[in-house]
Amino acid sequence: MRSSINQPTIGITTSYDQEKGKLKLNKDYVEAIRACGGLPFILPHVSITKGDIKVILDRIDGLLLTGGWDVDPHHFGQEPRYKLRGIDPARDLFEIELVKIALKVGKPLFGICRGIQVLNIAAGGSIYQDIEGELEDTLRHFQDGPRWWPTHEVVIEPETTLYGIIGKRKLRVNSFHHQAIKKLAPNFKGSAQATDGIIEAIEKPGGKFPLGVQWHPETMWTRYPVFKKLFAHFVKAAGGVYKTSEQKREMK
Ligand code: MN
Repeated sequence: MRSSINQPTIGITTSYDQEKGKLKLNKDYVEAIRACGGLPFILPHVSITKGDIKVILDRIDGLLLTGGWDVDPHHFGQEPRYKLRGIDPARDLFEIELVKIALKVGKPLFGICRGIQVLNIAAGGSIYQDIEGELEDTLRHFQDGPRWWPTHEVVIEPETTLYGIIGKRKLRVNSFHHQAIKKLAPNFKGSAQATDGIIEAIEKPGGKFPLGVQWHPETMWTRYPVFKKLFAHFVKAAGGVYKTSEQKREMK
């Protein structure tokens, strides 16, 4: 048994500011993981090769995919639309490969904002590159207002992992995305949607985490404790608390 079981190590992905040559991570992610008993390992994607990815995954108990700008649409078979922005080829390759292997080996993973999109793309789905340019009469999904302030509602599907965590059908969330899930990845289900039909959470039935949310719980949990539950359950999953019956049989 790994000694980390009481303090699971959580790999957290970063953004890269090309102009300043700096890796960036909002400390809210780190503090949320820490507050739930996880030990954060920050994962750079610069100077990392494909061969490093298995080594990284072997050393972490859970993978947290953070927010950021857009995934190159080439990864989901589309040409770039006019409103596409902020492409980081190294980050795309790093995160997509991390997710593919994490899904294969059953490593718990939690995707936030860009993270839910990377999860869906790596698992074979696609996204809208720009909600406003591709769909009519949608809500405002890029809010003006404090990052902790909820601006729209999501409706959570019953009998999902998300419902099991949150414990209610309706939740008000913040919203900082101009992209959204289009074609859901095979073997995944939508576990929450906004009132305009935009998918706001996905999960893989049968496992507790892989799970992704389109909003930013890391900037809300200190004011609204319900959002802390997402991190708490994720860290628990990384600690091996939730084994599928198959994994339990293997352990015997
Ligand atoms: Mn939204």
